[in-house]
Amino acid sequence: MPFEEVLGQTAAMATLARALERGKVHHAYRFEGPEGVGKERAALAFAQALVCTAGVLLGCGVCDACRRAVSKSARPPEVPLHPDVIFVGRALYPPELIGGKKEASEISVEQVRRVVLTRVVYPPHEARHQVIILRGAEELSANAANALLKTLEEPRPRTHFVLLTSQPDVLLDTIRSRTMPVRFGPLPDAVLRTILLARGLPEESLSELCALAGGSASAALELADPERRAARENFVQGVLGAMRTPGLGAAVVFAEGVERDRPWLIESLGALAAIFVERARSFVAQGSAGARVQAERHALVVDAMAAIERNGQASLVMSGLVASLKAARQLRPGRPPAVPVPRR
Ligand SMILES: [Zn+2]
Repeated sequence: MPFEEVLGQTAAMATLARALERGKVHHAYRFEGPEGVGKERAALAFAQALVCTAGVLLGCGVCDACRRAVSKSARPPEVPLHPDVIFVGRALYPPELIGGKKEASEISVEQVRRVVLTRVVYPPHEARHQVIILRGAEELSANAANALLKTLEEPRPRTHFVLLTSQPDVLLDTIRSRTMPVRFGPLPDAVLRTILLARGLPEESLSELCALAGGSASAALELADPERRAARENFVQGVLGAMRTPGLGAAVVFAEGVERDRPWLIESLGALAAIFVERARSFVAQGSAGARVQAERHALVVDAMAAIERNGQASLVMSGLVASLKAARQLRPGRPPAVPVPRR
């Protein structure tokens, strides 16, 4: 069943299921939430429910209409094969199909005119309803948003819009006020693990990916790129190596050589933070006092990430971090903390 295949978004899917069950489907929804948490998948499941020919309220997922709603054409534009499930998105259509306009940074008014406005004046081709799904609605140009506005203001029978956005604040107020919000949250780690395992990622990579991905499956898949993983691993080993080396010379050498690119550095520090969380957890499980040192180190890494975000100089932040990580090892893992003994 399509609705059940949308993982980790129970509240959002319940809202949509209720609307279908009551026969009160709004003419325009706004699915808002972070990238990579299932908004598009949910929109397609919703579209299946609206075009299903098997008489299943939430869509059967197996009838010809349900299958065509989620199968994309092999050649551009990569849009659903079902004629009543219409996709809008930046650069989705070859320029020659939408009036020769290249869409480098926004969804053009030409696309909205050709793909949406020419369609909504007609009833659905074959289904009970037609569904227009706007991917990345925050990328609508001002003209495109205004062109769309009139259609949103005057709902047409059996026509439904689903605007997908990770930046609802960027949308025009007028668009926001005419669309009903459905909120999608970050995916819980357990759901993210299920998705990543299904994509064939190795079990041992999942903790790090979940720690870094902020509940987004698409972010996790990007972070899983072998080159990026190797670069993070290199960084983490560099820090751990400098921590083990006596004196501060190795810390300075490592810090001087570190990549200055801020997003990359934050991602790598995130991987390092994840290592200390993992260690702290395993020490807690063993009942070992070493957990406290690891927790302290985790906090130091989080502080360093904040310093980099505030534009801190990479080499200074890194050499300071390695020095504090070294200093936080008075309590060796496995050894119980020193308990002060009162003198008699
Ligand atoms: Zn069906």
